[in-house]
Amino acid sequence: MNDFLKRTWAEINLDNLNYNISSIKSKLNPQTKLIAVVKADAYGHGDCFIADELVENGVDFFAVSNLAEALSLRKAGITCDIIILGFTPPIKASELAALGITQTVFSTEYARQLSDFAMCQKCTVKVHIKFDTGMGRIGFVENDSVSSVGEVLKLFSCSQLCITGIYSHLSSADAVDSQSTKYTRMQVERFNHVISQLKERGINNFVTHLQNSAGISCLENAEYDYARAGIVIYGVQPSEHISGIDLKPIMSLKTVISMVKMVPVGAEISYGRTFVTTHPTRIATVPMGYADGYPRLLSNRGYMLINGQKAPIIGNICMDQLMLDVSKIDNVCQGDIVTVVGRDGENEISFPEIAAIIGTIGYELMCIIGKRVPRVYFKNGERIAVSDNYSNRPSQ
Ligand SMILES: *Cc1c(COP(=O)(O)O)cnc(C)c1O
Repeated sequence: MNDFLKRTWAEINLDNLNYNISSIKSKLNPQTKLIAVVKADAYGHGDCFIADELVENGVDFFAVSNLAEALSLRKAGITCDIIILGFTPPIKASELAALGITQTVFSTEYARQLSDFAMCQKCTVKVHIKFDTGMGRIGFVENDSVSSVGEVLKLFSCSQLCITGIYSHLSSADAVDSQSTKYTRMQVERFNHVISQLKERGINNFVTHLQNSAGISCLENAEYDYARAGIVIYGVQPSEHISGIDLKPIMSLKTVISMVKMVPVGAEISYGRTFVTTHPTRIATVPMGYADGYPRLLSNRGYMLINGQKAPIIGNICMDQLMLDVSKIDNVCQGDIVTVVGRDGENEISFPEIAAIIGTIGYELMCIIGKRVPRVYFKNGERIAVSDNYSNRPSQ
C-alpha cells in the first residue's frame, strides 16, 4: 500500500463502525432491519469503504441522495437494495431499472412522469412512496385536512411502477421539548394512519420505514420493517439532547505542525491581522485550511489538540493553513501530530462540539471535509486502506 501524504488526513475506524451497528440494532425491535444511510459519500467517510464493511456486517439496504451516489455503490460491487431518497430526473427511469435501484416517488406529478418514461423505455421501476407527515420537504401530503392515500392507491395499479415500500421522515425527533415530542408523536400517528388506510383497502405488500437516527432513539417500540440510520452509524449523536444509543465516533481528523516560532508582543497574525499578540507568543502553523473543509468561521474561535492539550486558533483561517497559539503547551515541535477532531490523551473534540461554536451541526462539518483530505481506514487496529483523490488522477 502506498503511503499517503501526512499533511491533513481523516482516520476511519471500521471496528467502531461495527460497534455502532450492534448498538443501533440492540435499540430496534428484532424484526426491524437497518437501511444504512450513506449519502454524501457516507457523510464524508467514503461511501464504498463504509458500504463494503456494512455488507460484511449483514446490512443489505442502503440509502443515498441521488443516482450518481447509487451508481458509485453499484460500481463498487454493492449488489443489495439501494434507495434514492431524493429527486431523480424521470428520464433516468431505464437506468434506475437496469441498476435495480429503488426510487422515491413523492408526488402524483412525479409518479406520472416516471411512469411515462418507464413506459417509453420499456422498463419497470421499483419505488417507495414517500408521505409528508410534517417535514414539509417532499412527499404526498398527509395531515389533518388533506390525505393523499386515495391518490397513492391508484399508483398501486400502475404497471410501470413497482411499489415495494412506503415511508415518511421525522423533522424534530432530535429535540426533547414538549412541542417537539408532540410533533413527532403526531407524525407517527399520521404515518400509522396511512399504513392502516392502505391495509384496509387490501394493499399489504409493502415495507414501511419512518425512523431516522433520532427516531431510533426516541421511538423505542416502533414496529416498522426498516429504520434509516445515518449519523449514528458514524458514531455521532443526532443532537446534544439525544444519548439513547451507545456510540463510538469512527472518524478522527488529524494534521501536523509545519512550523513553530516565537513572536513578540504586538505581532499581527494572518490575513486581515484580526489577531494581535498581547504577550510573547509561541505559534504553531498547521497545513489545514478551509479548502480541507475546516470552516473559516472558526477563525479566532476554534481549537485543536496537541499533546492532549487545547491550542486555540489565532488569526484568520487560510485556504490551506492556519495558526495555533501553543504558548501553554510544552515541547511542541514541527512534525507533531495535531488532533482536529478526535481524542488526544484526556481531551476529545467532537464534530458537534466544534459545530456548535459556529452555530451549525456536526452533520455539516462531517460532510464538508475536503476531497483532498485522504481517508485512512483502520480495522483490528491495522491500517487496511487509503482513499486519496489525488493518487488516482489520469496521468500522461
Ligand atoms: C439523511 C436522511 C436520513 C438519515 O438521517 P440521520 O439523522 O443522519 O439518521 C434518513 N432519512 C432521510 C429521508 C434522510 O434524508
